[in-house]
Amino acid sequence: MKILVTGGSGFIGSALIRYLVSETTAEVVNVDKLTYASTQGSVASVAASPRYHFEQVDICDAAEVARVFAQHKPAGVIHLAAESHVDRSIDAPGEFVQTNVVGTFVLLQQALGYVQAGGAPAEFRFHHVSTDEVFGSLGLDGPAFTETNPYDPSSPYSASKAAADHFVRAWHRTFGLPVVLSNCSNNYGPYQFPEKLIPLMIIKAAAREPLPVYGRGENVRDWLHVNDHARALWRIFSRGVLGESYNIGGNSERSNLQVVERVCQLVDERLGGGPPRRDLITYVKDRPGHDLRYAIDATKVDRELGWTPQETFDSGLEQTVDWYLENREWWQPILDAKYAGNRLGLGKS
Ligand code: NAD
Repeated sequence: MKILVTGGSGFIGSALIRYLVSETTAEVVNVDKLTYASTQGSVASVAASPRYHFEQVDICDAAEVARVFAQHKPAGVIHLAAESHVDRSIDAPGEFVQTNVVGTFVLLQQALGYVQAGGAPAEFRFHHVSTDEVFGSLGLDGPAFTETNPYDPSSPYSASKAAADHFVRAWHRTFGLPVVLSNCSNNYGPYQFPEKLIPLMIIKAAAREPLPVYGRGENVRDWLHVNDHARALWRIFSRGVLGESYNIGGNSERSNLQVVERVCQLVDERLGGGPPRRDLITYVKDRPGHDLRYAIDATKVDRELGWTPQETFDSGLEQTVDWYLENREWWQPILDAKYAGNRLGLGKS
């Protein structure tokens, strides 16, 4: 089975590709534009496999996407390519509309053309990878999001993902494209671009730099290890019911402050020296439109498809801290050339 994975040089896409090549017999075509958020190092461990192929393609380029379908004749698409950082969506929302909405539209159209032309295997399906952020914000005590929660996005990022989700459902209902969707909570783990909370805090804590926490740090997220997400995606892609969506979560709600304090403890234990790193925590101006809480009810994917997370947040975070401390050669070039750890998302550009 040959699968197109879009965004396979990003954080989650690369974890999925490493999983598919090492744990399944699937053949993978990584379709990635290679934006700032990508690193080829994240797929280096599987790049030599005869079951791995790479196409540097922008998903907004219809002719190139059509060529990739015609050339590789995939049995499915797992669509992860996106602009993914909320703060950047505040500074430059147009890129989010372009890739997340227009890019998804182009992929849907080309997938449909490929199916309608009769060239696709009978089991062909299009799996759209989305986020819990489309559901908007919860109160601190409210029940977690289920698949039937109404959409209520707050940021340009979540609005663009919500729009894409609607297009995917419409292409299923109107044109009969075989689709499944998944909405996942915050991921963490190796190879995450250092603009995101956990890697940024590990790197800054190790360097004893100030640790900027938005607002009072009370915003709550559910955290899932990226390898658990990769397993969930494969399960949903392989066995999910067409037209359905599945929530994926880690049963690990933590406030941002709790996460940063735990990172500080772990870095202290490993690197020692000097006063506790939690003293470096600095409260900074909050993110505009900052959702208070996301929480996922992942009962459906467990009950219907038998998926539950294997990693606890405690063990996964320890492993992640160790990975960043041991893999400076992966993230230092990013800090030197692409992103120096500066504040984003105040809407200034
Ligand atoms: P990422 O930013 O790390 O990677 C995105 C990848 O997409 C990069 O390799 C980039 O080069 C590629 N890309 C961007 N624009 C493209 C285009 N126009 N054409 C082709 N490739 C393009 O993102 P991520 O964190 O790995 O997220 C992957 C997907 O999962 C996204 O759709 C995101 O919305 C979703 N998601 C992420 C999280 C999370 O916590 N990171 C949680 C839930 C859902």
